[in-house]
Amino acid sequence: MNRIVILNFHGIGVPRRDLEPGEAPYWVSEDFFTRILDLIPEAPLPVAITFDDGNASDLDLAAPRLIDRGLTAEVFALSGRLDRPGSLSAAGLRELEAAGFRIGTHGVDHVDWRRAAPETLAREIDESRARLAEVLGREIDTAAIPFGSYGPHVLRALRRAGLARVFTSDGGLANPEAWLRPRTSLRGDMDVPRVRAILDGTESPLRRLRRSAAMRWKRGLSD
Ligand SMILES: [Zn+2]
Repeated sequence: MNRIVILNFHGIGVPRRDLEPGEAPYWVSEDFFTRILDLIPEAPLPVAITFDDGNASDLDLAAPRLIDRGLTAEVFALSGRLDRPGSLSAAGLRELEAAGFRIGTHGVDHVDWRRAAPETLAREIDESRARLAEVLGREIDTAAIPFGSYGPHVLRALRRAGLARVFTSDGGLANPEAWLRPRTSLRGDMDVPRVRAILDGTESPLRRLRRSAAMRWKRGLSD
Protein backbone atom coordinates (compact mmCIF):
# COMPACT_ATOMS: atom_id res chain seq x y z
CA MET A 1 0.00 0.00 0.00
CA ASN A 2 1.05 3.58 -0.65
CA ARG A 3 2.61 5.28 2.34
CA ILE A 4 3.62 8.87 2.97
CA VAL A 5 5.20 10.80 5.83
CA ILE A 6 3.24 13.79 7.10
CA LEU A 7 5.31 16.30 9.04
CA ASN A 8 3.42 18.61 11.36
CA PHE A 9 4.79 21.97 12.47
CA HIS A 10 3.42 24.48 14.95
CA GLY A 11 5.36 27.74 15.22
CA ILE A 12 8.57 28.78 13.48
CA GLY A 13 11.07 31.25 14.96
CA VAL A 14 10.24 33.39 17.98
CA PRO A 15 6.62 33.31 19.20
CA ARG A 16 4.80 36.63 19.06
CA ARG A 17 2.07 35.68 21.51
CA ASP A 18 1.93 34.07 24.96
CA LEU A 19 2.35 30.32 24.61
CA GLU A 20 0.12 27.74 26.19
CA PRO A 21 1.59 25.47 28.90
CA GLY A 22 3.66 22.76 27.19
CA GLU A 23 3.63 24.48 23.81
CA ALA A 24 7.21 25.85 23.69
CA PRO A 25 8.92 22.55 22.66
CA TYR A 26 6.81 22.51 19.49
CA TRP A 27 8.30 25.74 18.17
CA VAL A 28 11.32 25.24 15.93
CA SER A 29 13.94 27.81 14.95
CA GLU A 30 14.03 29.23 11.43
CA ASP A 31 17.38 27.52 10.95
CA PHE A 32 16.14 24.07 12.00
CA PHE A 33 13.01 24.48 9.90
CA THR A 34 15.16 25.25 6.85
CA ARG A 35 17.40 22.25 7.55
CA ILE A 36 14.35 19.98 7.75
CA LEU A 37 13.05 21.27 4.42
CA ASP A 38 16.43 20.61 2.86
CA LEU A 39 16.25 16.94 3.94
CA ILE A 40 12.97 16.40 2.08
CA PRO A 41 14.37 16.03 -1.46
CA GLU A 42 16.50 13.08 -0.25
CA ALA A 43 13.62 11.40 1.59
CA PRO A 44 12.76 7.91 0.32
CA LEU A 45 9.00 8.37 0.82
CA PRO A 46 6.69 11.16 -0.33
CA VAL A 47 6.43 13.90 2.31
CA ALA A 48 3.48 16.15 3.08
CA ILE A 49 3.68 19.16 5.39
CA THR A 50 1.07 20.61 7.72
CA PHE A 51 0.94 23.47 10.23
CA ASP A 52 -1.34 23.61 13.25
CA ASP A 53 -2.60 26.59 15.31
CA GLY A 54 -2.54 29.25 12.56
CA ASN A 55 0.53 31.11 13.79
CA ALA A 56 1.64 34.21 11.87
CA SER A 57 4.93 32.41 11.22
CA ASP A 58 3.11 30.09 8.78
CA LEU A 59 2.87 32.99 6.37
CA ASP A 60 5.83 35.15 7.40
CA LEU A 61 8.56 32.54 7.83
CA ALA A 62 7.42 29.14 6.60
CA ALA A 63 5.63 29.99 3.36
CA PRO A 64 8.54 31.82 1.66
CA ARG A 65 10.91 28.91 2.41
CA LEU A 66 8.39 26.36 1.15
CA ILE A 67 7.61 28.31 -2.01
CA ASP A 68 11.36 28.72 -2.71
CA ARG A 69 11.64 24.93 -2.76
CA GLY A 70 8.52 24.27 -4.79
CA LEU A 71 6.74 22.88 -1.72
CA THR A 72 3.29 23.57 -0.38
CA ALA A 73 1.48 22.71 2.86
CA GLU A 74 -1.86 22.37 4.57
CA VAL A 75 -2.53 24.93 7.30
CA PHE A 76 -4.97 24.15 10.13
CA ALA A 77 -6.14 27.41 11.64
CA LEU A 78 -8.00 28.23 14.85
CA SER A 79 -10.91 30.45 13.97
CA GLY A 80 -10.88 31.99 17.48
CA ARG A 81 -7.33 33.28 16.99
CA LEU A 82 -7.77 34.85 13.56
CA ASP A 83 -6.49 38.44 13.48
CA ARG A 84 -5.00 38.20 16.98
CA PRO A 85 -1.38 39.33 17.49
CA GLY A 86 1.03 36.51 16.55
CA SER A 87 -1.66 34.58 14.69
CA LEU A 88 -2.71 34.61 11.05
CA SER A 89 -5.12 37.28 9.92
CA ALA A 90 -8.09 36.59 7.65
CA ALA A 91 -6.15 38.32 4.86
CA GLY A 92 -3.12 36.14 5.63
CA LEU A 93 -5.21 32.98 5.29
CA ARG A 94 -6.46 34.15 1.91
CA GLU A 95 -2.88 34.95 0.90
CA LEU A 96 -1.75 31.44 1.83
CA GLU A 97 -4.59 29.88 -0.12
CA ALA A 98 -3.80 32.04 -3.15
CA ALA A 99 -0.19 30.80 -2.94
CA GLY A 100 -1.40 27.19 -3.26
CA PHE A 101 -1.63 26.24 0.41
CA ARG A 102 -4.67 24.31 1.58
CA ILE A 103 -6.57 25.52 4.65
CA GLY A 104 -8.40 23.34 7.15
CA THR A 105 -9.80 23.75 10.64
CA HIS A 106 -8.14 23.16 14.00
CA GLY A 107 -11.24 24.30 15.90
CA VAL A 108 -12.15 27.56 17.58
CA ASP A 109 -10.33 27.85 20.90
CA HIS A 110 -7.72 25.06 20.93
CA VAL A 111 -9.53 22.87 23.42
CA ASP A 112 -9.06 19.14 23.97
CA TRP A 113 -11.78 17.58 21.81
CA ARG A 114 -11.60 14.21 23.56
CA ARG A 115 -12.51 15.79 26.89
CA ALA A 116 -14.93 18.39 25.52
CA ALA A 117 -18.67 18.19 26.22
CA PRO A 118 -20.66 17.13 23.14
CA GLU A 119 -22.03 20.65 22.58
CA THR A 120 -18.53 22.15 22.87
CA LEU A 121 -17.15 19.63 20.39
CA ALA A 122 -19.99 20.38 17.95
CA ARG A 123 -19.34 24.12 18.27
CA GLU A 124 -15.58 23.65 17.81
CA ILE A 125 -16.20 21.84 14.53
CA ASP A 126 -19.18 23.75 13.12
CA GLU A 127 -18.34 27.29 14.20
CA SER A 128 -14.70 27.09 13.11
CA ARG A 129 -15.66 25.71 9.70
CA ALA A 130 -18.31 28.38 9.24
CA ARG A 131 -15.90 31.20 10.13
CA LEU A 132 -13.10 29.89 7.91
CA ALA A 133 -15.57 29.30 5.08
CA GLU A 134 -16.69 32.91 5.42
CA VAL A 135 -13.07 34.08 5.19
CA LEU A 136 -12.16 31.88 2.21
CA GLY A 137 -15.47 31.80 0.39
CA ARG A 138 -15.56 28.01 0.18
CA GLU A 139 -16.38 24.96 2.26
CA ILE A 140 -13.78 23.70 4.74
CA ASP A 141 -13.54 19.92 4.54
CA THR A 142 -10.39 19.00 6.45
CA ALA A 143 -9.58 19.10 10.16
CA ALA A 144 -6.57 18.55 12.40
CA ILE A 145 -7.40 17.40 15.93
CA PRO A 146 -5.98 19.72 18.66
CA PHE A 147 -3.28 18.04 20.78
CA GLY A 148 -3.93 14.90 18.72
CA SER A 149 -6.44 14.08 21.46
CA TYR A 150 -9.36 12.00 20.27
CA GLY A 151 -11.46 8.95 20.93
CA PRO A 152 -14.18 7.14 18.97
CA HIS A 153 -16.79 9.81 19.81
CA VAL A 154 -14.60 12.57 18.33
CA LEU A 155 -14.17 10.62 15.11
CA ARG A 156 -17.92 9.97 14.96
CA ALA A 157 -18.63 13.70 15.33
CA LEU A 158 -16.12 14.54 12.58
CA ARG A 159 -17.60 11.91 10.25
CA ARG A 160 -21.13 13.15 10.95
CA ALA A 161 -20.00 16.70 10.19
CA GLY A 162 -18.91 15.49 6.76
CA LEU A 163 -15.18 16.19 6.98
CA ALA A 164 -13.34 14.67 4.01
CA ARG A 165 -9.99 14.16 5.77
CA VAL A 166 -8.92 14.25 9.41
CA PHE A 167 -5.34 14.56 10.68
CA THR A 168 -4.04 13.24 14.00
CA SER A 169 -0.65 13.44 15.71
CA ASP A 170 -0.13 9.70 16.15
CA GLY A 171 3.18 9.52 14.27
CA GLY A 172 4.19 6.81 11.83
CA LEU A 173 3.31 6.60 8.15
CA ALA A 174 0.01 7.67 6.59
CA ASN A 175 -2.05 6.16 3.82
CA PRO A 176 -2.64 9.09 1.43
CA GLU A 177 -6.09 7.68 0.57
CA ALA A 178 -7.27 7.26 4.16
CA TRP A 179 -9.82 9.43 5.93
CA LEU A 180 -7.72 9.46 9.13
CA ARG A 181 -4.09 10.45 8.63
CA PRO A 182 -1.42 10.27 11.33
CA ARG A 183 1.26 12.95 11.36
CA THR A 184 4.56 13.36 13.17
CA SER A 185 4.96 16.61 15.11
CA LEU A 186 8.37 18.22 14.85
CA ARG A 187 9.94 19.66 18.01
CA GLY A 188 12.75 22.09 18.59
CA ASP A 189 14.71 19.51 20.61
CA MET A 190 14.94 17.02 17.73
CA ASP A 191 18.14 16.71 15.75
CA VAL A 192 18.86 15.95 12.11
CA PRO A 193 19.32 12.16 12.61
CA ARG A 194 15.93 11.99 14.33
CA VAL A 195 14.28 13.89 11.47
CA ARG A 196 16.00 11.58 8.96
CA ALA A 197 14.58 8.54 10.80
CA ILE A 198 11.09 10.12 10.65
CA LEU A 199 11.48 10.77 6.93
CA ASP A 200 12.77 7.22 6.37
CA GLY A 201 9.73 5.85 8.18
CA THR A 202 12.00 3.82 10.44
CA GLU A 203 10.84 3.11 13.93
CA SER A 204 11.71 0.40 16.44
CA PRO A 205 9.31 -2.61 16.37
CA LEU A 206 8.39 -1.97 20.01
CA ARG A 207 7.55 1.68 19.35
CA ARG A 208 5.46 0.73 16.31
CA LEU A 209 3.57 -1.90 18.32
CA ARG A 210 2.83 0.57 21.12
CA ARG A 211 1.69 3.23 18.67
CA SER A 212 -0.62 0.96 16.70
CA ALA A 213 -2.18 -0.39 19.93
CA ALA A 214 -2.84 3.20 21.08
CA MET A 215 -4.36 4.11 17.72
CA ARG A 216 -6.66 1.08 17.72
CA TRP A 217 -7.86 2.02 21.17
CA LYS A 218 -8.50 5.65 20.20
CA ARG A 219 -10.40 4.60 17.10
CA GLY A 220 -12.57 2.22 19.12
CA LEU A 221 -11.33 -0.89 17.34
CA SER A 222 -10.06 -2.76 20.37
CA ASP A 223 -13.32 -3.74 22.00
ZN1 LIG B 1 -2.82 22.85 18.06
